[in-house]
Amino acid sequence: MTQTIGYAALQQDAPLTAFSFERRELRATDVQIEILYCGVCHSDIHQARNEWGGSTFPIVPGHEIIGKVTKIGDAVTGFKIGDSVGVGCMVDSCRTCPDCHDHQEQFCNQASFTYNSPEKQTGVNNYGGYSKQIVVNHDFVLHISDKLDLAKTAPLLCAGITTYSPLKHWNIGKGDKVGIVGLGGLGHMGIKFAHAFGAHVVLFTTTPAKAEDAKRLGADEVVISSNTEEMQAHQGSFNFILNTVAAPHNLDDYTLLLKRDGILCLVGVPDQPHPSPSVGPLIFKRRSIVGSLIGGIKETQEMLDFCAEHDISSDIEIIPMQKINEAYTRVLKSDVKYRFVIDLSSLEAV
Ligand code: NAP
Ligand code: ZN
Ligand code: ZN
Repeated sequence: MTQTIGYAALQQDAPLTAFSFERRELRATDVQIEILYCGVCHSDIHQARNEWGGSTFPIVPGHEIIGKVTKIGDAVTGFKIGDSVGVGCMVDSCRTCPDCHDHQEQFCNQASFTYNSPEKQTGVNNYGGYSKQIVVNHDFVLHISDKLDLAKTAPLLCAGITTYSPLKHWNIGKGDKVGIVGLGGLGHMGIKFAHAFGAHVVLFTTTPAKAEDAKRLGADEVVISSNTEEMQAHQGSFNFILNTVAAPHNLDDYTLLLKRDGILCLVGVPDQPHPSPSVGPLIFKRRSIVGSLIGGIKETQEMLDFCAEHDISSDIEIIPMQKINEAYTRVLKSDVKYRFVIDLSSLEAV
C-alpha cells in the first residue's frame, strides 16, 4: 500500500477537506499514476452531496484524471514509466458480458466506477482523482498524445466522451441541425464536437451573457431558452438535441423543436425527475427521448485521438485543490468557463 493525500467529502453536505488514505499495492496488470490534473464534473457535486442517493462516505471525487505513469506491474503492456495517461469514469468491469464484449463497459452491470463504487476484487470503496496518486488496471488507462495540453485534456475524460459518444452513436454530421442545451462542462464540449462533425449547431442557454462564447466555441446560433418566440421559431427543425442540464425542466419545450424522427438525448442527471413529457409531441412526429452514459474505453481513446488530430480541448479555469469548495459554489451558479481543473501540484505529497 502507498499512502497518498486527496480531498474528500467526509459526509453528506460537508465541505471537502484534506484526507489521507492508502492506494492498493500494485497488481501485475496495474499502472501507478501521479495525478497532475483533475477536472471538476457536476457529477462530483451530485455525489459528494448525495443528491442521487446511495453515496458511500468518505468520497474522494474526480473522474477526469490526467497524470504520468510512475510504476507498472509485471504484466502491464502498452505503458511505460513517464507516459502521459488519462483515467475517466471507470476503472474496471467484468470483461465477459455482452456489453463488455461490445466495448460498452459503461453499461456492464459489474462496472467499477472511479469513485463512490466498490473495487471489483476487494469490494473496497474506490477513491477518485482529487488526489496525488492512483492505481488503475491497465485496460482502463488511456493514452494521451504529446500534441494535447495536459490540463485542457482532463475534462475530455468525462465531459468529452459523454458528448462525443451520443453524437457518434446517432451519426451526427454534415446536413444535421443539432441543439446543445446548457453551456457548462458538457455543453461546451458538445458544441465543439457537433461543430467538428460538420453539423449546424444551436446552443440553448439560460444565460444570455454566454452567447458570445458559444459562437466562439462553434455554435452557429444561440437561443435564450426562456424566450418563447425564439424557441417557437425553431419548431420542428432539429435532427438531434443533446440536453446537458443538471436541473429538472419541461422536456416538451425541446421535443417540439425536433423534426419527424428527431431525437432528444438526455445526458444531464438532475437530482429530481423532469416533469413527465407530453405524449402528443412524441407520437405525431415519431420523436424519441433517449439517454446516454459516458462511453466505452475504446471509444474514449478514439475521442482523445480525434481531439489530438483536430486540436480540440476544453476551455478551463485552473484552480488549486484548496479552492474546490468555491468552485462547487460557482458551478452551481452556472458560473464556470467552462470547466474547473484542479492542479494537483497545489497539494503536498505525503
Ligand atoms: P455544468 O457545468 O454545471 O453545466 C450545466 C449547465 O446547465 C449550466 O452551465 C447551465 O447552462 C445549465 N443549467 C443549469 N441549471 C439550469 C436550470 N435550472 N435550467 C436550465 N439550465 C440550467 O454541469 P456538467 O458538468 O456539464 O454536467 C451536466 C449534467 O450532466 C450533470 O447532471 C451531470 O451529473 C451530468 N453528467 C452526465 C453524464 C452521463 O454520462 N450521462 C456524464 C457527466 C455528467 P446555461 O447557463 O447555458 O443555461
Ligand atoms: Zn463526469
Ligand atoms: Zn461486463
